[in-house]
Amino acid sequence: MPEQQPRIVILGAGMAGILAGIRLQDLGYQNITLYEKADRVGGTWRENTYPGLTCDVPSHFYTYSFERNPDWTRHLPPGPEIQAYFERTARKYGINELTRFGEECNDASYRDGRWQLQFVSGHTDVADILIAATGVLHQPNYPEIPGAESFQGALFHSARWDHSVGLEGKRIGVIGNGSTGVQIVSALAGKAALLEHYQRTPQWIMPVENGRFSEEERAAFRDPEVLAKAMNVDEYMAAVEAYTQSITDIESEASQAMAQACRDNLEQSVTDPVLRERLRPDHLPLCKRLIFSPDYYQAIQHPQARLVSNGIRAIEANGIRTVDGELHELDVIVYATGFHADAFMRPMSITGRDGVQLSEFWQERPKAYLAVTMPGFPNLFMLNGPNGPVGNFSLIDIAEHQWGYIERLIARLDAGECDAIEPSMHAMETFEEERVEAAKQTVWYRGGCVSWYLDAQGIPSSWPWNFQRFVDCMAEPDWSAFNLPAPAAASHT
Ligand SMILES: Cc1cc2nc3c(=O)[nH]c(=O)nc-3n(C[C@H](O)[C@H](O)[C@H](O)COP(=O)(O)OP(=O)(O)OC[C@H]3O[C@@H](n4cnc5c(N)ncnc54)[C@H](O)[C@@H]3O)c2cc1C
Repeated sequence: MPEQQPRIVILGAGMAGILAGIRLQDLGYQNITLYEKADRVGGTWRENTYPGLTCDVPSHFYTYSFERNPDWTRHLPPGPEIQAYFERTARKYGINELTRFGEECNDASYRDGRWQLQFVSGHTDVADILIAATGVLHQPNYPEIPGAESFQGALFHSARWDHSVGLEGKRIGVIGNGSTGVQIVSALAGKAALLEHYQRTPQWIMPVENGRFSEEERAAFRDPEVLAKAMNVDEYMAAVEAYTQSITDIESEASQAMAQACRDNLEQSVTDPVLRERLRPDHLPLCKRLIFSPDYYQAIQHPQARLVSNGIRAIEANGIRTVDGELHELDVIVYATGFHADAFMRPMSITGRDGVQLSEFWQERPKAYLAVTMPGFPNLFMLNGPNGPVGNFSLIDIAEHQWGYIERLIARLDAGECDAIEPSMHAMETFEEERVEAAKQTVWYRGGCVSWYLDAQGIPSSWPWNFQRFVDCMAEPDWSAFNLPAPAAASHT
């Protein structure tokens, strides 16, 4: 390690930013600051507090590999336990001390070989290395429904849950049937006087067990060997491979098997044939992000629950008016309408080398070489950046692989082998052309649906190959893809 360490700034103290902070400290870096616009760590799990919030990755896999958690109470981790896990981990590894909370970066400009950072508060900083860990599902997507402002009841987005609003005995409308809408409806069935679920397109639902771990099991999991055995990593990784195979090859046996499991679930769980047909998607399973739920079909068949599949015309003072003219009187409306998944660091303004703007570079679509680096933006590394793997597996695992890759890039900088690291435009364009072509073969593109996985051009914005290819790409950088200018002079301060 050179005497003068690089100045490293991490933007965001969610799962990815905490990971970067822990790993950098492990490597001996001391000149690190995390900036977090909120007042605590946690990102997604701090912001989303809706009833029923559950991660659909088996709980023991939704942790850092170096910080397993024997205390999960259920097979799928509940949101509040995940938030507690990140808070605990941040405390344990000294992340809070490294973090300036309440600081939102709004401008990052690469000038004179360093990133000049500006914050909404007026604070400024500089960095030799900038890690963007600002999240993917972060900026809520509010649907444009005429008349929403006239609603007399409570109306909020699922990621901005208003806990001052009582729900018992209320008439509640939930708009949107992705994983979030399904989880909210499942949690509220039987509690609300009326629960209406507004569905634009039916979704396939994969059944899943979500039992409790007993006290004895949790106590036993404190022994890492017992936990490792219970986790059965090989079996889990085989399931992840089968999942990615289903996505990349819709003719595959894995794809057929998943589709059949979803169809059987619908047939066996919904008794009313009319409701069953209204719940039956006309696209292939996995075309949209697959929903795992142990109890949605029961919830939507609850006597107080109602599936509304006529489109929404407007929101009025007393409820929702559907296109068939019916007024659905409601006390509470929840937008379970997702996020701007293409925002990434934005609305932050980012200016790279020679004045290149991120907004211009991403004009067609967000893109990055292997989802981590971009030509023209030296020493800027992204965790969970554009077109990385997404699916029903752990983004923590993805971020750890990406971090391994970033660590190798930083090591070269730190060894003084180069002043700046960025991929060549040729490498970027070749990668992106291949990615787009491969994306057109996936179920996301060919499965007959529209989903938030598609970018503005209708191309799936994700890693379109199998999981192992991602692991291999992250294991060792292909150095021929990078511009590595020799150092002019030692410039770290
Ligand atoms: C409802 C929901 C369910 C999910 N379920 C799953 C699941 O089942 N499995 C799974 O793997 N993943 C799931 N995810 C994805 C989840 O977002 C990731 O697993 C993970 O938490 C992402 O961590 P992150 O650190 O990359 O981003 P985030 O958690 O979004 O954290 C980003 C942080 O950056 C901060 N920030 C952003 N911009 C700035 C700025 N300009 N300046 C300073 N700070 C900034 C934010 O405040 C935030 O704290 C889910 C997401 C949501 C919303």
